[in-house]
Amino acid sequence: MPLKFITSQRGALMLLYNGYLYTNKSVNKSNITWRCVEYRKRLCSVVIYTTSDKRTGEIIGDSPVHNHAADVAHVEARKVKEKLKKKASKVCENNGVMISKVLSKVPSPVVQLPTIKSLTRIVQRQKTDWAKKTDKAVVVNPKTLQDLVIPNMYRMTNDEELFLLYDSEGGVDRFLVYATAKNLELLAECELWYCDGTFNLVPLIFKQLYIIHGLYHDKLLPLVYILAPNKSQLYVSLSSF
Ligand SMILES: [Zn+2]
Repeated sequence: MPLKFITSQRGALMLLYNGYLYTNKSVNKSNITWRCVEYRKRLCSVVIYTTSDKRTGEIIGDSPVHNHAADVAHVEARKVKEKLKKKASKVCENNGVMISKVLSKVPSPVVQLPTIKSLTRIVQRQKTDWAKKTDKAVVVNPKTLQDLVIPNMYRMTNDEELFLLYDSEGGVDRFLVYATAKNLELLAECELWYCDGTFNLVPLIFKQLYIIHGLYHDKLLPLVYILAPNKSQLYVSLSSF
């Protein structure tokens, strides 16, 4: 029988059974003892036993009787946090988009959901931890272009295709070119290209986001993105690229 678990904020495994949460109390050769998470707060003395702390295992014994109702909203809120943490470690996605996708799957009404602000903090912390683990040299919010180290997760698309096509590296005139191989193939098929720079929506250490669009079947597709250190040097840099 599949057992369901939730990971606590401290990383401990919690068993989810019939809407109640249990923490690991003890382990012996033949079974694992779990006690209700409310054992302190509500003096609930329910313990259950399982044959395993893996995804499959058996609950041993009868269905327990708690001295309190199952807190579905609390469990759902925990599930949301756990889902976000997992996603933040795997998927390159804007924090807001990630949060709204996870929240859209929450059965309503869940009253105990954390605020968007605290969910954003959870996602950001997880992303930073993950980046630190996978790439020790990562500087969080670098002050200069030289300090910028790009972790692997920001070099690839969600489908694990290479997205950071070119990094000029080096000093103050560093620039980055983002496009997938598929995007370049599409661009090569387009007879008309539109190039435009924007100065407002760029990370602080860059001054310009330059986008090359291709007109493909009457649709204007953004296919190449260039983060540039300033406006004037972009033309020089690109011509040497
Ligand atoms: Zn209980």
